[in-house]
Amino acid sequence: MNDRTVNKLSGGYSCQVCGYPELQYPPRDSDGIASLEICPSCGYQPGYDDDCLGRSTDEARALWIESGRKWWSTRPRPEG
Ligand SMILES: [Zn+2]
Repeated sequence: MNDRTVNKLSGGYSCQVCGYPELQYPPRDSDGIASLEICPSCGYQPGYDDDCLGRSTDEARALWIESGRKWWSTRPRPEG
């Protein structure tokens, strides 16, 4: 998956873990600085989960799928 892909429909960035397409920031900017934006879908936070917990996006995705692909945020889940 290309982590720089901007979703053409939503104008957002795709989550590296779950593919949620409406993140406001890329996971890392061009200097490699993490966004620290928590994905409302899977709860992955670039710069924390990877840097602090040593959890790769692949591992985070596996855990998320294992947990039943729970919607992480308290915000209502969008249609689709
Ligand atoms: Zn996500």
